[in-house]
Amino acid sequence: MAEQKSVDSQQARLAALYDVSAQLGATLDLAELLNLVMDSIIQLTGAERGFLMLMDEVTGELETMAARNVDQETIAGRSMEISRTVVQRAVSTGQPILTDNAQEDARFAGHQSVVGYQLRSIMCAPLRARGRIIGAVYVDNRLFSGVFNKEDLELLTAFTNQAAMAIDNARLFTQTDKALARRVEELTLFQRIDQELNKSLDLNRVLGLVLDWAITLTDADGGSIGLLEMNDEDETVLRLLARTGASEYELRAVSTDHPVLAQVLTEKGSVHTRHVTVEQAVDGTATEAQLAVPIKREGQVMGLITLESQRANNFRQEDIAFVERLADRAAVAIENSRLYEAVQAADKAKSEFISVVTHELRIPMTSIKGYTDLMLGGMVGPLTEQQKEFLSTVKRNLERMSVLIRDLSDINRIESGRMKFEFDNFDLAEALEDVVSSLRESVETRQQELHLAVSADLPQVYADRTRISQVLTNLISNANKYTPDKGAITVRVGLDNHFVRVDVVDTGIGISEEDQARLFTQFFRSDATAVREQTGWGLGLSIVKKLVEAQGGEIVCQSELGKGSTFTFTVPLANYVLQPAN
Ligand code: ADP
Repeated sequence: MAEQKSVDSQQARLAALYDVSAQLGATLDLAELLNLVMDSIIQLTGAERGFLMLMDEVTGELETMAARNVDQETIAGRSMEISRTVVQRAVSTGQPILTDNAQEDARFAGHQSVVGYQLRSIMCAPLRARGRIIGAVYVDNRLFSGVFNKEDLELLTAFTNQAAMAIDNARLFTQTDKALARRVEELTLFQRIDQELNKSLDLNRVLGLVLDWAITLTDADGGSIGLLEMNDEDETVLRLLARTGASEYELRAVSTDHPVLAQVLTEKGSVHTRHVTVEQAVDGTATEAQLAVPIKREGQVMGLITLESQRANNFRQEDIAFVERLADRAAVAIENSRLYEAVQAADKAKSEFISVVTHELRIPMTSIKGYTDLMLGGMVGPLTEQQKEFLSTVKRNLERMSVLIRDLSDINRIESGRMKFEFDNFDLAEALEDVVSSLRESVETRQQELHLAVSADLPQVYADRTRISQVLTNLISNANKYTPDKGAITVRVGLDNHFVRVDVVDTGIGISEEDQARLFTQFFRSDATAVREQTGWGLGLSIVKKLVEAQGGEIVCQSELGKGSTFTFTVPLANYVLQPAN
C-alpha cells in the first residue's frame, strides 16, 4: 500500500516535472524565465524557500538572480553564509548536494555556526548548460516542516538540467539582442560621423572631430591624433596635430623608435598598454591605460589615434573595435581633405600662372600689333602686294592669340571668383542691336540671312550689359561660323515668366548627340571638318555658360546633326530680381 502510494506520488511528480519543463521554452526573457524556474522548483520540491545564482561570465562571481521567501539582504547576510558555501561547493564540484544538518556534515564542517541553519534540510543543484556550470539552485526547509530525500534531489537535478539549458538560451539571446542593439546604435552613430566628416574638407577640423568622438565614446580622459610625415632630417615621425588640452606649440613629433609607435608600425594593429610609463606614453605623460590605434590607408599606417585613461581597465574589447572602425573612417576623411588641399593649392598655382602669362603676353602683342598696323598704313613706305598679304596674316594670327588670351583670363577670373559683374537694369533688345551691327560684316561675307524677332515692349533685364553682349556675340558668331554660306540665323527675344529668353537659331551643321553631351566644357571642339576649318579654341561656350549662370539665368542647346542648332539662354527681369538698395 505504502509502495503504491510512493509509485503514485512518483508519477505525479514526474507529470509535474514534465509540465513545468514544457513551459521553460516559452520565454526568452531572462528575468521572466528565472522567476518561472524558481516557482517551479518550489512547487516541485515543496521547499520553504530558495534562490538561484548565476555566474558572471567575465568576473566568475556568483550573483543571486531570483529568490523565493528570502530577500537579497538575507542572502548576502551572515545567516546565509552556509547556504552560499553549499552553492559554491555545488558549483565547483558540479555535484548536487543534499544535507539535513550542514553543521555536522563533514563537507561543511569548520564553518561558523549560525543560529537556525542546522535545523534545516538543504538541497542544491548546479546549473549545467553546454558542458559549463552557469550557476546553481538552492532550496531549504526547516526540519520540522519536511526533510528532502534522494528522490527530491533527483527531481531537482532533472529539472535544473532542463532549466539550465533554457536559462543559457535566454542569456545568449539577450546577449545577441544587446549586441545587435549596440551594433545598430553604432551604425547610426557612424552614419552621423560620416556625414560630419564628409561635410568638412578642412584637415584640422577632421582630426579634431575624430579625436573628440574617440574620447567621448570610449570614456577616455584624453588623447591625441597624429599623422606620419617626413621631418627636416628626412626621417619619418609622427606629428601630433591635435591633443586634448594642448596648445599648438606643445604638440610634439614622436620618433618611430618610440616603443609603442614602433610596435604599431610593425604589427599594423592597435596596442593597448596598462600602467603606462613615461617612455611608453605617446604624449610623454604616464597614465594607467593607453590605447594606440593606427589610422591605415590601403594597409599602410598613416597616423595614430592615442587615447589615455586613469583607469587601467577603461578600454574594453568593444571600445578598441569601435576606435578601429572610427580610424578607418578617419583615414578616408583625412585623405579627402589632403586631396582637397592639394587640388586647391594646384588651382591657385594654375590661376597665378595664367594671370602672369596672359599679362606678359599682352605687352609684346600690343607692340607687334602697333607696328603691323603702322606698316599696313604705309607709315614706313609703300608695300608690295605680297608684303601686305604677309602682314595681314600676322594681324589675323595676332587676333586669334588675343582671343585666346582674353578667354583664358576670363575663365581664370570666373574660376577664382575674381570676375566682376556691373549689374544694372537695361534693355536687352538694344544690346542685341549693337552686337548684330558689329557682326553684320561677317554675316554678309557668308551671304547668310540674319533675322531678328524681338517681342514688343519687353521689360528691362537686370544683369551686366557688357557680359550679356559677350554672350550674344559668342552665340551669334558661332551660328555664323558653323552655318554654311547662304544659311539663315534667327535671333528671337521674348518673355518667359520672370525672364527674358533669347533663342539663337541657325540652319547650320548641327551637333551630334554625343558632342552635345560635351558642349559647354573647356576646349571642346567637334571633330567635324566644318568645325575644324573655322578658327576657335573651344573656350567660348564654357565661358558663356558661366556668365549666364552667374547672372541668374540658364543656357541649353537643342540640335540635330545636318539640320541646325538652337542655343537658348535666359536673363532675369529687372522687376523680378531683388536688387540692392542704393
Ligand atoms: P569654338 O567656336 O572656339 O570652337 P565654342 O566653345 O564656342 O568654341 O564652341 C565649342 C564647339 O561647339 C565648337 O567647336 C563646335 O564644335 C560646337 N558648336 C558651337 N556652336 C555651334 C553651332 N551653332 N553649330 C554647330 N556647332 C557648334
